Formats: sequence, structure tokens, C-alpha cells
Amino acid sequence: GLKCGIVGLPNVGKSTLFNALSSAKAEAANFPFCTIEPNVGVVTVPDTRLKVLEDLVHPQKVIPTVIEFVDIAGLVKGASKGEGLGNKFLANIREVDAIIHVVRCFEDPNVVHVAGSVDPVFDKEVIDTELQLKDLESVEKKILRIEKIAKSGEAKAKKQMESLLKYKEALKAGKNARAVEADEDDLEALQDIHLLTIKPVLYVANVDEGSIQEGNAHVKRLKEEVVLENADVIVLCAALEAQIAEFEDVEEKNMFLAEYGLEESGLNRLIAAAYRLLNLITYFTAGVQEVRAWTIKKGWKAPAAAGVIHTDFEKGFIKAEVIKLKDYEQYKTEAVCREHGKIAVEGKEYVVCDGDIMHFRFNV
Ligand code: GDP
Repeated sequence: GLKCGIVGLPNVGKSTLFNALSSAKAEAANFPFCTIEPNVGVVTVPDTRLKVLEDLVHPQKVIPTVIEFVDIAGLVKGASKGEGLGNKFLANIREVDAIIHVVRCFEDPNVVHVAGSVDPVFDKEVIDTELQLKDLESVEKKILRIEKIAKSGEAKAKKQMESLLKYKEALKAGKNARAVEADEDDLEALQDIHLLTIKPVLYVANVDEGSIQEGNAHVKRLKEEVVLENADVIVLCAALEAQIAEFEDVEEKNMFLAEYGLEESGLNRLIAAAYRLLNLITYFTAGVQEVRAWTIKKGWKAPAAAGVIHTDFEKGFIKAEVIKLKDYEQYKTEAVCREHGKIAVEGKEYVVCDGDIMHFRFNV
């Protein structure tokens, strides 16, 4: 599955946020949050289209798609040199597909700030610096490995050296690798070193209850800072999210949200943003046994999409029957869609679209 790692300095609200995610009551009850390890959890991706399909198909179960979250505690200044949980922490980050960077934007004299005062931009830089130092180490190691071959004039190694030096300079200048404009050669040069600061990121500004609507001065500074990275900032109050997550009754929950002027929980906004960040889309399968959402990357062709269900579906792929959700809504059943020519038969080259309802045909 796809994983998001939650990082940030100590005491910024990571665990509070993670616990809120863990206790969030799944809206389609068949896939409750489950904890794999104490710091790893799976949450369902809210998707109103599932309800639409459920009402049309009346299946026995509805299975939403999921994202994994990992609470990566222990990053402190000096982590890249092995301080705190240092290396273990960094190894955890290497395994995730995207980073959710929680930044403290709430004042609370009762909660100690590791650096003495609330300063989201400074905090973000502390974390960034540790990750950049680690990346610099990775880049330099590879440079050492290929330097000789490059000097001997070998074309591929020479190209790789150019790329690596470009990244070395950027990292030394305090830039994240994701901020460097990369071409195909660069990506190839970096492929085997799995940089940390090249992973997509989104920021969570953890604010006090009073600032969820308008934000505050800290949020403003953080937003100005990350404009350069083209990154999303989700403003939420982790402590409040923990309360929101406790509601099982949807109406009660909505009333609670309304009291704070919210239409949606911050967690749902966070999950949706993470999904976008990872460049993911959803297709559906709809049968009387189950209606189910499946996650794929944007741009995947039908056989790869089928492979998410089962590797045999990919290996033996023959064709896919595709119905668009709006047609399903209009004609109500597969049979009527067929009568109106609204089932397209697609081959191996078909690029699956967000919201497609798929039926795969395959050889076993
Ligand atoms: P972590 O070290 O980043 O995992 O931080 P925690 O989630 O353990 O939070 C550290 C402290 O900040 C705890 O005492 C939390 O109750 C408190 N805290 C977390 N989120 C909020 C918030 O949104 N507002 C306030 N006032 N306190 C919070």
C-alpha cells in the first residue's frame, strides 16, 4: 500500500494527529482503521462516489480504498549524525511515498517548545536541514563511487556526475531536492540513492481551536515560506480533530463541525490532500457482492490497474469493460448501460480515468 510518513519536531502534535487518524470511524463500516504496528495505521479514503454506487447496486459490502500513515517520531536536531533515534528515523522515512510535515502553529504555555518559542519556519528548517544532510551524504557517496569512471570519459557516468553535482550544490545551499528542476538524466542518476528531500511533501499547520478558520500569523509565515516549494498547507487543530474523530454518528459529527464553522474534518482534508499529492486516482468495481474502490497512479493503463486486484488479472488481461460513473447514475444498471451503448470495451492501451467503473476479462 501507499504510505505517508508523519514527521516534525517533538511536541508539535504528531502523535495527537496520528491518534486522531487511528480513531477516525470509517464512514463505510467495512474497513475499520487497523493498526499494523504501534506507529503504522491504515485509514480509509472518504469518497462520496461510493455511496452513489452503493445506492444503485445495493451490494453486500462496500470497500473503500486506503492509505497508510506512519508516525515517525524522534527527529531532532542532529538526527543525521545519529542523535535521537537518528538513523532508525531516517530509515523509516526512506520507506514512505510521501511526507506529511507537521509544524506547530499553536501557542500554549503548557506545552514546551523544544527550541523555546513557536516559530514554524525555523522548525521546518531544522527538519529540512537534517534530511538535506542525509541526502548530501547519499549524493557524495555515489559521487565517490562513479568519479573514476566519469573521469575515464565513460559517457553515462559523466552525465550522472553532472546531475549529482547539481544536486550536491543545491543541498549544500539548503535546498530540498524536490525544489531542483529535474530532467530524465537527473532522475536516472538519483534512482538508486532514494533521496529523502525529493519525496513529495505537504505541511500540516497545527493551530489552536480559535485559528482553524482564519489561520494566524504563524500559518501566514509558513505559507509564505512554502510557496517556493509549491506545497499544500493543511490548517487544522490536532487536539480538536481527536475529538471530531470520536463521533460515530454522522449527524452529531456534522453538528459538532458546524459549531466550529467547518464543513469537513481536517483529517478528511488531509487524507484527500495526501491522495492528490501521491498523484493517485480511484477506479471502482461494482457488483452485488461488493462495491469497491481501487487506488492506482494517474496514467496507469488497464492491465496495471487490473493488477491491483490480482496479479493474475494483469498477466491474463484480455480486455476491460468500462462504464463512466455519470452514465451509471443516469441508466442505473449495467444492463441498461449496455442497451444504450454506454459500456466501452477497452484494450491493453486504455489509460484508466478517475471514477471509471471497470470490469476486467482475463485468461487464467
Ligand atoms: P509529538 O511529540 O509531535 O507527537 O506531539 P504530541 O502529539 O505528543 O503533542 C505534544 C503536546 O502538545 C501534547 O501535550 C498535546 O496535548 C499538545 N497538543 C497537540 N496538538 C495540540 C493542539 O492542537 N493544541 C494544543 N493547545 N495543544 C496540542
